[in-house]
Amino acid sequence: MDCIFCKIIKGDIPSAKVYEDELVYAFRDINPQAPTHILVIPKEHLPSVDAVNAENSGLVAHIFEVIPQIAKAENLTNGYRVVSNCGDDARQSVKHLHFHILGGKILSESM
Ligand code: 5GP
Ligand code: ZN
Repeated sequence: MDCIFCKIIKGDIPSAKVYEDELVYAFRDINPQAPTHILVIPKEHLPSVDAVNAENSGLVAHIFEVIPQIAKAENLTNGYRVVSNCGDDARQSVKHLHFHILGGKILSESM
């Protein structure tokens, strides 16, 4: 499958890793929108939030256990934003489920 994030997980495309376990990979966004901008992705290819269901939602729960650990390691003590763009109207550009962690400054009031 021609998926950039699957290639990043495999190591075929280099990335700045910040966290990895058996289910999840996290790395720095190549085009950061904030001083800290990390992408957290499941190793299993799921296209978007829209593909989350009763069978795979444990993976998403695990991602949301990992996110605060990453935020702590990145010193985001004053808060951070977690975003997942889903589908074309949200301008999802990579069709592999991912959660942006944004922080390190006071973020825009608008999304
Ligand atoms: P989306 O727009 O789908 O919510 O977010 C995709 C994100 O992936 C973008 O913020 C974009 O900068 C990032 N991105 C796309 N290609 C690469 C890549 O090859 N490496 C890294 N580190 N980030 C990427
Ligand atoms: Zn993928």
